Amino acid sequence: MIASIKDNLEDIKSKGLYRNLPPIAKSHTKYTIFNGEEKLNCASNDYLGLSHNDQVKEAAAEALRMYGNSSGSSRIVAGNYDLYDKLEYETAKFKNYESCLTVNTGYTANLLIISTLADSRSIVFTDKLNHASIYDGIKLCGAKMVRYKHNDMNHLETLLKKYDKYPNKILITDTIFSMDGDKARLKEIRKLKYKYNFLFVIDEAHATGIFGEGRGIAHEEGVEKDIDINMGTFSKALGGFGAYICADKNIIKYLINKGRSFIFTTSLPPSVIGGNVKSVEIVSKEHEKYGGRLLDNCRIFTNLLATLNIDHEKSNSQIFPFFFKDNNSALEVQKKLLDSGVYALLARRPSVTTPRLRISLRADFTNEDIVKIVKCLKKII
Ligand SMILES: *Cc1c(COP(=O)(O)O)cnc(C)c1O
Repeated sequence: MIASIKDNLEDIKSKGLYRNLPPIAKSHTKYTIFNGEEKLNCASNDYLGLSHNDQVKEAAAEALRMYGNSSGSSRIVAGNYDLYDKLEYETAKFKNYESCLTVNTGYTANLLIISTLADSRSIVFTDKLNHASIYDGIKLCGAKMVRYKHNDMNHLETLLKKYDKYPNKILITDTIFSMDGDKARLKEIRKLKYKYNFLFVIDEAHATGIFGEGRGIAHEEGVEKDIDINMGTFSKALGGFGAYICADKNIIKYLINKGRSFIFTTSLPPSVIGGNVKSVEIVSKEHEKYGGRLLDNCRIFTNLLATLNIDHEKSNSQIFPFFFKDNNSALEVQKKLLDSGVYALLARRPSVTTPRLRISLRADFTNEDIVKIVKCLKKII
């Protein structure tokens, strides 16, 4: 057993897929201290810088002082305080849904939704580029998994026709794809929903706080009413931790009663909940200053890339992928970027099939920061 683990590690290394934990002392707003040096942080999902927002930190500290460092048990036993209900009330209002449930992580939320609502007699239609947690949720419950080609509505419809007889159908898609930065076609999927009748689930992890006045892509496209379950995270643009699931009250009650990954786990610590409440308040009241500012930065970045003839693929979000033929050339470029002061994420298998550098922009980048990133890219790519 131990010998085969060692062999497997050697195999991973020989393919250029070995991962080291990065030597980061800490991150402070837009900078990260990498190997003792300050770099612009283009790798984090803290897109709005809210993890270091003074009001958010104070709200988290206040909750810590008032409720302690741990909730002490699961929500259904003793770990449910008024603060948790407040977060759910505010999030449901913000997302324009009847009811909301907070869950420990986005990963757990997808496991919870899929494995509670589907079983081995169900069928789940899923975009090929959906997040790993969606894939794992389907695996866990033993439902039939049908993966359609990325954003390919013809392929999806062919599959919906083919499996039309299944009684329990679910379709789930990211709204912003985390490694490609493009958007799902929610309006087209909505049409198919009324033709083929499935439960429509979306994952707004990279959209919440940014698009649709911060309310997400479903809000931006005016299709909220057609989405049965709208989940997203507090851990990305909201600079906190945990996830929310918005839906009608019966779905939420069902998840509370039947969801194993909700029932059998301690609830989030109060400080996290307190910080999340403040973040939701900020993004709902001050969109221009945060999500709006980030979208301005995306436009500046895209225009600069175009004038310098840098191919920026198909992104229409804060996430920009730059593709490479092989892992080692991507690794080399990542290192050069780092040497010139920019930390970008290197994504490889099993996260993605084509190796890429993923640059994510932030609301707190200045014009000078963006010019610097583009100049570095121009020199290197
Ligand atoms: C990050 C992410 C998740 C997982 O969220 P965590 O809170 O980090 O566990 C789920 N879905 C998508 C699309 C994500 O990008």
